[in-house]
Amino acid sequence: MNIVSLKWDVLEIPLKKPFRITYETIDKYRGVIVKICTEEYCGYGEAAPAPRITGDTVESTVAALHRFKPLIITKDPVKIGKIVEMMNSSIVGSPSAKAAIDFALFDILAQKADVPLKDLLGGRKERIETSLTVDIGSLEYTLKSARKLLDAGAKVLKVKIGLNPQEDIERVRAIRNITDAKIRVDGNQGYSLKRAIRVLKEMEKYEIEFAEQPIPASEIDNLKILRESVDIPIIADESVHNSLDVLRLIGKVDGINIKLMKSGGIYEAMRMASIARAAGMRIMVGCMIETQVGIAAGTHFALGIGADYADLDGYWDLTEQPYEGVEFRDGYNYVSDKSGLGVVPK
Ligand SMILES: [Mg+2]
Repeated sequence: MNIVSLKWDVLEIPLKKPFRITYETIDKYRGVIVKICTEEYCGYGEAAPAPRITGDTVESTVAALHRFKPLIITKDPVKIGKIVEMMNSSIVGSPSAKAAIDFALFDILAQKADVPLKDLLGGRKERIETSLTVDIGSLEYTLKSARKLLDAGAKVLKVKIGLNPQEDIERVRAIRNITDAKIRVDGNQGYSLKRAIRVLKEMEKYEIEFAEQPIPASEIDNLKILRESVDIPIIADESVHNSLDVLRLIGKVDGINIKLMKSGGIYEAMRMASIARAAGMRIMVGCMIETQVGIAAGTHFALGIGADYADLDGYWDLTEQPYEGVEFRDGYNYVSDKSGLGVVPK
């Protein structure tokens, strides 16, 4: 089997409302949908570059795809490790472009095996609970957002924090007052160690499931101090991109947030998951703002490996859904039972 074509489309989709986290406010999604075909099968992938996290942009992703194209055409799509190695030795970085190609290759492989991708990756779960996200805003805005998500079926809320300690505490307390749903917080590197300890100590009484990356990504040793100082489990996100980062975090955090856009796809993410499991770390699978192509890949991966937590709601704020591939029902994400990634253009 040989790859006969690699095509891509740049997408721009406005968000229903601006999305605010510690370091930026976003009002539209820009990404790239990739389609790789053999004579028999076509696989889909998506690149959702987030420059502050993945170090790449839509423009650099397109440049990387131009460079990968002649290297990939005529290759056997089943030999994913070989293609990943070839991409890594051709360009350092550009994880979003690599992820898009990796998803399309896994899509083709699972179609050839005639199983949903999740089963090819281990088939550990049939559905996974996902958090829905409350971004940063006033107390009133926070409560309105939380109510809306709870009405939509959320069983877990992920509350973005990290800008203002007192306001963050008030926002989390207000949400706890209206629901028994699980609450996670995500600081997106916004606090100093000292502030993070103070805020999380204060939040212990609101039964927080875990706190994601409250302090800067480079402060690996401070993550350990933070973990030992508070009774809320600490999950690393921006501190962990690939398997080497997982090794560096052993013993310093309770778990890691694997995002396929950071790892450059499923192939590397499987290695990260193996290391994390062997080290007794919990595994969360997260996402960027993405269409259902990327979210389907993340959901198949999370189901396949049996992830402990998922935050796979990246398509929720898009004003259009150009692809279908996941379903959210009563707090859980489901994928299609078609073989492969199961993604279809609308
Ligand atoms: Mg995060």
